[in-house]
Amino acid sequence: MPRFRGLRSDKPPSDCTLDQIVQDELAEYVSKRDFGSTPEPMGEGKKGEGRIFVVQEHHARRLHYDLRLESGGVLKSWAVPKGIPEKPDQKRLAVKTEDHPLEYANFEGTIPEGQYGAGTVKIWDKGSYEPKVWDENMIEFTLNGQKLKGRYALVRLKKAGENSWLMIKERE
Ligand code: MN
Repeated sequence: MPRFRGLRSDKPPSDCTLDQIVQDELAEYVSKRDFGSTPEPMGEGKKGEGRIFVVQEHHARRLHYDLRLESGGVLKSWAVPKGIPEKPDQKRLAVKTEDHPLEYANFEGTIPEGQYGAGTVKIWDKGSYEPKVWDENMIEFTLNGQKLKGRYALVRLKKAGENSWLMIKERE
């Protein structure tokens, strides 16, 4: 289990490998789960092949849809309680959640009672995406999935707390 033991002043950031950075990004994911009990993947540091996206239908305490976009060797993730917008100009609240390992894009199964996110997970849509803008407050991208196609934006809602975003289906 990774642990934070302090900052290294003896090493410049440029000496860090992508693997080390990815492991740091997955620290929250790992710390929330007991891999002896949950069937979810631990993340073996699989290298990304490109730009995959997945939407998982997650019947947890409350049904929601988890949008995940591959970036920097992990899946950047948002929980969208009311479902992915499918009509132009539709907006839905999207709550940023912890980065997930790339292997999670293939995960379907039942997270047992008592575990974080307990309930069933199934893949609702999957495909590739093309980012157009990606900064800390705004992500614009095109989805190319089985169900979802076309232009989307994620816009950060700073005033509503640091994890609140809006997912918007843009006009073509
Ligand atoms: Mn979820």
